[in-house]
Amino acid sequence: MSQSRKPILPPSTIGILGGGQLGRMIAQEARRMGYGIIVLDPGTDCPASHLADEHMQADFSDAKAVQALSQKCDVLTFEFENVEPSVMQGLTSYPALEPLFISRNRLREKSLAQNLRIPTAPFIPVDSATELRQALRNTEIQKCAGAILKTCEGGYDGKGQWRLGLKELQAALDSRISDQEFVHLLDSALVSAFRSREDTLTTGNKIPTKDSATIKERTASSESRDSATAKTDQSVEYGHGLDATFVLEGMVDFTLEFSIVGTGFNDGSFHSFSAIENQHRNGILHKSYSICKMNQKAQTLAEEYARRLCNHFSYTGTFAVEFFLSNDEPVFNEMAPRPHNSGHLTLDANYSSQFEQHVRAICGLPSGDTDSICEAVMINLIGEDESELSGLEQALKIPGLRFHWYGKNDSRQGRKMGHITALGSTIESAEQKADQAYECLGWVRQ
Ligand code: AMP
Repeated sequence: MSQSRKPILPPSTIGILGGGQLGRMIAQEARRMGYGIIVLDPGTDCPASHLADEHMQADFSDAKAVQALSQKCDVLTFEFENVEPSVMQGLTSYPALEPLFISRNRLREKSLAQNLRIPTAPFIPVDSATELRQALRNTEIQKCAGAILKTCEGGYDGKGQWRLGLKELQAALDSRISDQEFVHLLDSALVSAFRSREDTLTTGNKIPTKDSATIKERTASSESRDSATAKTDQSVEYGHGLDATFVLEGMVDFTLEFSIVGTGFNDGSFHSFSAIENQHRNGILHKSYSICKMNQKAQTLAEEYARRLCNHFSYTGTFAVEFFLSNDEPVFNEMAPRPHNSGHLTLDANYSSQFEQHVRAICGLPSGDTDSICEAVMINLIGEDESELSGLEQALKIPGLRFHWYGKNDSRQGRKMGHITALGSTIESAEQKADQAYECLGWVRQ
């Protein structure tokens, strides 16, 4: 939907909630374009603060601080989806709160995808071991080679997930196995997660859905619990009230994973980059390719699905949709209402990067050109405990290598510390350079 809005021109100030690497890269592009930056983040020395005119050190739940940030800046944006809607009351942000509310919860976002006729894995809300067993008995789930239980909120980079294989699928159906015996088959961390959820429910201390202050609660119909996919009718604001702790998904048999990174603009237009192929290690993005090896039909369909989400929210800003390619067709996995790790290669390989696109959109400016200048392969530099990166001088000898470091003050296992992007005239040459550079790099204990 088209909205007219006066463009916010430099040297106006952009306020960013969150000062991690995404905030830093938004700030980098915004500074280049002449904008001022204020970042709000509880950390003392967060990555975005190095590029900001001002760092407001405050908690994200500090409503007064968030209000103060909004008064000081001309436009407000986020680098992450876990913003409390209650602290944003009465404030305008780009993107708006609705996509954040939906995408911070896997059940809500999958329900929305389903309502928008975007294919997903079969999924069922789950709150207890008994419900898990029932869900595993579902025919759509039983058709899959396995299942994966995910926490609806808070899990990221593969955290808060439990894989359930044929053993659990068969045990769920086996009437000789009691419910108690079934629980013994489960991972102990999962069993304790179920226990604490059950305790919370029986003490009447219902886990607050932090959003209930501003968004009307609705109760998921019991029917939706029994179906392979939670049903919400069109009149329901998608997914509101679907407040289960976990969602069980059937394992998708995929050939590759990819993302569509795109940006919604004020005039209702949506501009995306070419599909980006992604490889993960230990549930964390490892490598992204500027070209995704899939047919044009799947690419067009995935773009159409991303556009549908954009139109649904009248989304302003950059966002990413992650898909599996299964039987040559895109299957929705999740949405991130912000620039995305897989889009980092656009900083070096495209006329307008995902961050520049975000800045343009939130400031009410027209889209840049999302075409690529060359091919690119990005590899994340994931930290190890108390270690320093080694081998950089060697890596930087490789032609076409771009090095990005986020300025985090300490390295930790699994922490995204930086990334490299290798450029080439073909995807093969870019990959060769990226691999060669990555080989040079390592972590040395301090
Ligand atoms: P997520 O946090 O949902 O992105 O999951 C992390 C990774 O686990 C994904 O990138 C996939 O490699 C894998 N995964 C998650 N859900 C599924 C699924 N339903 N079927 C197959 N693989 C999955």
